[in-house]
Amino acid sequence: MDGERPPAIRYPWPEPPASGEAVEIAEGVLWMRLPLPMALDHVNVYALDDGDGWTVIDTGLSSKKTRDIWETLMAGPLAGKPVNRVVVTHHHPDHVGNAGWFQSDHGAELVASRTAWLFARMLMLDVQESWPTETLDFYRSSGMAAEVLAKRMADRPFNFADVVFPMPLGFTRIKQGDVIRMGGRDWDVHMGNGHAPEHATFWSRDDNLVLTGDQVLSSISPNLGVYATEPMADPVADWLEACERLQPLARPDHLVLGGHKLPFTGLPTRMRQLIENHHGALERLLNDLETPKSASECFAPLFKRTIRDGEYGLALVEAVAHVNHLHHIGAVTRTRRADGAWVYQRKG
Ligand SMILES: [Zn+2]
Repeated sequence: MDGERPPAIRYPWPEPPASGEAVEIAEGVLWMRLPLPMALDHVNVYALDDGDGWTVIDTGLSSKKTRDIWETLMAGPLAGKPVNRVVVTHHHPDHVGNAGWFQSDHGAELVASRTAWLFARMLMLDVQESWPTETLDFYRSSGMAAEVLAKRMADRPFNFADVVFPMPLGFTRIKQGDVIRMGGRDWDVHMGNGHAPEHATFWSRDDNLVLTGDQVLSSISPNLGVYATEPMADPVADWLEACERLQPLARPDHLVLGGHKLPFTGLPTRMRQLIENHHGALERLLNDLETPKSASECFAPLFKRTIRDGEYGLALVEAVAHVNHLHHIGAVTRTRRADGAWVYQRKG
């Protein structure tokens, strides 16, 4: 360290745009918001002016309500110009939800990483009327409390297709190292990982803008989750690798436009915080695992706060991610408990 103070994190726009309205972030770059029916109650979307039309970055959850807001935005701030292209940063429903609608009903081109597109299409087609055995096994292995599991099983399983508009065949692939022209700027494409596989971020060559999706967020930490699709996944390692690779690109004057919360400057500081937070969480968790615990019993050392009912699902997949990471690096052992849960214990 050279003794200089790390750049502070600043929020140039303390107020988000109202529903159906846009904030002009820079020439030809609009910031808008769509509602989400969960604890995290919004997603940011952006529109970049290509002259004859718009490129939209991310699309919100699929619902009549969000599409009505899009119609309002297109007639208002987007001034009736067509949305010619939709870029999705990653395959999660709050980002990809209305992409298929833009393709089918507005003739837009869909741009995404190959993994994002394949995941979205796969999950879209994978409709489950009842709970798959693999999902229930995964929940039991994670130590989900019996009453929580029973309550879940009484409801219809989560279905991606319930919150994502049908996606037609066909997309345009972007990959690491590409340059894409949007909104009168050339953007370097850098792929993130960990929050979602092959998660696209865009770094303007012509000014200070960076579109980070959920790879980098300002005031919340991106969720790193393990799911029944890949129970042994290590998204913590994937995420740390990506952050360490993106970190040297970060400049204090970058204006970061993320998928949630507020645009900010001070990216080098934020990158360091995000990386350090996970190392800190892993250290607390490892100390705590002196006594054996299942993933669901690790919320206290990981999150340092009470997890409310509405957050249980996200907390659980993140807890599994962290115990998996400790297991992969050989810091803990794991054994099956009589109730079917894996329990983890610090080695030595
Ligand atoms: Zn998101």
